[in-house]
Amino acid sequence: MNQSVQNPQPELSAIRQKMFIDGRFVDARSGKTLPVFNPATGAEIARVPDAQAEDVDAAVRSARATFESAAWQGMLPVERERLLLKLADLIEQHGEELARLETLNNGKLLMFSRMLEVGANAQWTRYMAGWATKIEGSTLDVSIPFPPGVRYTAMTRREPVGVVGAIVPWNFPLLMAMWKIAPALACGCTVVLKPAEETPLTALRLAELVMEAGFPAGAVNVVTGYGESAGAALVRHPGVNKIAFTGSTEVGKIIGRSCMDDMKRVSLELGGKSPVIVLDDCDPAVAVAGAAGAIFFNHGQVCTAGSRLLVHKSRYDQVLAGLASAAEATKLGDGFDETAQMGPMVSATHRDRVVRYIESGKAEGAELLAGGQAQPGSGYFVRPTVFSNTTGKDLTISREEIFGPVVVAMPFDDLDDVARKANDSRYGLGASIWTNNLTQAYRLIPKVQAGTVWLNCHNMVDPNLPFGGYKDSGVGREHGRAMIDVYTETKSVCVAY
Ligand code: NAD
Repeated sequence: MNQSVQNPQPELSAIRQKMFIDGRFVDARSGKTLPVFNPATGAEIARVPDAQAEDVDAAVRSARATFESAAWQGMLPVERERLLLKLADLIEQHGEELARLETLNNGKLLMFSRMLEVGANAQWTRYMAGWATKIEGSTLDVSIPFPPGVRYTAMTRREPVGVVGAIVPWNFPLLMAMWKIAPALACGCTVVLKPAEETPLTALRLAELVMEAGFPAGAVNVVTGYGESAGAALVRHPGVNKIAFTGSTEVGKIIGRSCMDDMKRVSLELGGKSPVIVLDDCDPAVAVAGAAGAIFFNHGQVCTAGSRLLVHKSRYDQVLAGLASAAEATKLGDGFDETAQMGPMVSATHRDRVVRYIESGKAEGAELLAGGQAQPGSGYFVRPTVFSNTTGKDLTISREEIFGPVVVAMPFDDLDDVARKANDSRYGLGASIWTNNLTQAYRLIPKVQAGTVWLNCHNMVDPNLPFGGYKDSGVGREHGRAMIDVYTETKSVCVAY
């Protein structure tokens, strides 16, 4: 690797290695820790507490005490707005430190850590700050006829749902954390966040910045630990009013069932197998760039990754050849290397999982056009991989979410055929359509079962754009006005006069 283009890595001694409960960094009561790795090298970079139920209990008690405190209950919306705006400023002020920490821990290219984990993060925080002062109910006419002579009027109030247990994955660690924390705080909730065990480091630093912004101790707690122990304890805890979860569909279903047992509020942002649809008029060069970005961005570790490529038969060979060359030309490397175009998978376990899927594609008869293996060496790299399935075989790699840089392509005949193929999935998170033919685009958009449909772009998100899934991709919508539904309860008030 060319050292001259290496950006400096963060000082390991500056990494926070304790979890954040009630405004203080603490160890797990058991003293147990879990290792955190640099996925580009496989080196251990930190150990963080392996939280158990007793630690989660302390965090939830803190969040609840803060939520119920007179100071929190009496805080004006404009004050929450001011604190969130201050937090956004702090995220930007410490942006370079946070971005480097994220690249070290997650492996993503530093450019994307800067743009998304920091830049978009601050944007989301400011957007949600604005909502704190704009939460509203309605006044309602009602028709209650008795007792005679009495009149009624009614209104609704939005009240914070309470203590939010936020559980997030490792693919956008800091951004996913803020996608829960900012709306929860804007709505007047307090939070216990459990980051993914692979990527806890930026969340721990963020917790400190939340305090520095002026939020009281307990407003945001961060417990580090494994899903089956710390995560499950948070889901089951009676002091938690709502679980906001982003992660796999399998875990989402377990959490959803548990929340229903306890009548906890729950929102679930889950997996995907999103189609990229290239219509017959699309310039093949545009299609190649669009399809490559859709699947290879963030090394394919994106819930909306365009992992199924559907190309009109008249363009199929040309687009697939272009995509295969783009994949072969991709330079893999450490996220700190400015010449690298793709970083590693987040963990050795995940790399091995992605490679197993690639092997299943080969074994089940898909045609391999590019990539097809892990890159030898100490980091967790997988070559960008392109499969073609012209025979329409039912392949595991077409059905299951791989969450890596692996795309399976198929040709289609017409709009009905592509709608059927696009919807032939248990998932329904995202989809993109590539065309300049607006008639075809507008006919296809209503047929595609997905929470977001992009036209001539893919993976684009915005705090003002509701985000969530159809089918097995989840329940509820994050962002925009829709977030108020998931972080507040509606109270109806009926007044006789
Ligand atoms: P995962 O479901 O394995 O883990 C996600 C989080 O849940 C982690 O913090 C984990 O520790 C925790 N967890 C695991 N088991 C748990 C349990 N039994 N109880 C409580 N918590 C538990 O997912 P992952 O591998 O970390 O992330 C990848 C998945 O996330 C993919 O399926 C991806 O599509 C999905 N994702 C979805 C979105 C979205 O917005 N829809 C965004 C990003 C990622």
